This record gives sequence, C-alpha cells and structure tokens, in this order.
Amino acid sequence: MTYTEDNLIPISSLSQYYYCPRRAGLLLIEQQWSDNVHTAEGSIIHQHVHQGNRETRPDLVRLRGLPLHSLRLGLFGVADSIELYAAAGGFPVKGMEGLWETVPVEYKHGRVRDELEYEVQLCAQAVCLEEMLGCVVKRGFIYYAKDHRRKEVAFTPELRELVRRGAESLHEMLRTGVTPPVAKSRKCRECSLQEDCLPRAKTSAERYIKELWAAVEKGDES
Ligand code: SF4
Repeated sequence: MTYTEDNLIPISSLSQYYYCPRRAGLLLIEQQWSDNVHTAEGSIIHQHVHQGNRETRPDLVRLRGLPLHSLRLGLFGVADSIELYAAAGGFPVKGMEGLWETVPVEYKHGRVRDELEYEVQLCAQAVCLEEMLGCVVKRGFIYYAKDHRRKEVAFTPELRELVRRGAESLHEMLRTGVTPPVAKSRKCRECSLQEDCLPRAKTSAERYIKELWAAVEKGDES
C-alpha cells in the first residue's frame, strides 16, 4: 500500500509512539500538547538548527531544514541536518557532481544516551531520503546538545522494521480514532502530557470499575 500527500503522519509521531503509544494517540488523535522543560529545550534547539540552510565544503555539503516524505510508509517531516559526504561508494545526487553518501543528523537536548525512539525517528528520515533520492542510507547521527557530541546510529534491518511497524500502527490508530490506554511506567514522570493523560487517576478509576463489576458479578454489591 502507498499513501497520498494528504494522509501523511509526522515522523516525530514515531518517536512519541516508541516513547509511549498513548502519548502518540493523545497528540495525533486528541491534538493535545503541553510543553515541559525537556520539550521546550528541544524546540529551541530545533529552531536554532533550522535557521541555517546550506554549508558547502569540497568533500561535505550540509543541508538544514530539508523537507522529507515517504509515500510508502505515509510519513513526512523536516530533517534537522543532512550531510552529504563525497564517497567512492556513494550515489549520484541531482545537481551535484560525483558520488555522495547521505547521512541524516537529528539534534536532541541533554546528554548522550540510548533512546530507541530517537533511533527509530532518525531511521525514518533515512527511509524517506532513500525513497526521495533513490539511494541507500546506511547510518546517521544523533547530536546531543549538552555534551556537544554525536552518536552514530546504524540503520539495521531490525530498526527499519520498527519504523515500518510503527508507521503502520500510527495509521491504524488514526483510522480507528482509538487512543491507546494508559500504560503506566517510569516514563510518566518525565512525560509532558501527564496532566492530560492522568495515568494515576485513570488507572485507579479503571481498577475501581473492575472491582465494582467483580462485586456485582459475585452478588455482593450492597
Ligand atoms: S503520562 Fe505515561 S501513560 Fe500517559 S502518555 Fe505520558 S507516558 Fe504515556
């Protein structure tokens, strides 16, 4: 199946989905958004990154704020930075001489860390670039602003499969209009949607209803 330009989902939703499917549903279906300190810092970094647009050196071209899409997966977004390295094993790029390796770079706040959702988001950018440029994108980088360091991410078949499955689940979520249930975890403490999601209130309400039904079924609801 392929999608049309009218029904593409933001690549960033994949990152939300792998953080917590409910969070992705609240954003996509219920259009809820609340900033907390982490998301606010992240927005400032992104605004800064997208202000420049092109930097050219003999063996490296850096493009900022490049729009991306994949009709195969139904995704769209904007790349923080795409680096093109002159490379014998690379691919031709329209309007440029020679062969180039295409490498997406995503900017994040905080310190270098392992976050699967960021790796999936970056890999989704690679899949978009492959579809748009007809090349193979083998690796990318996540740049962590606090440490001024970047971490290399290899786009393995497993990571690509997570991109495919995540995109499929998000489209299914939009089609059915059903926001996933609360899945309480340690991530809730850092989640900017805590107030909108109310994980504690919902789980206790659900437990209360379950207990009430159990009591009714046992016939001791008095
Ligand atoms: S508060 Fe927890 S369950 Fe609710 S959206 Fe955030 S991470 Fe998910």
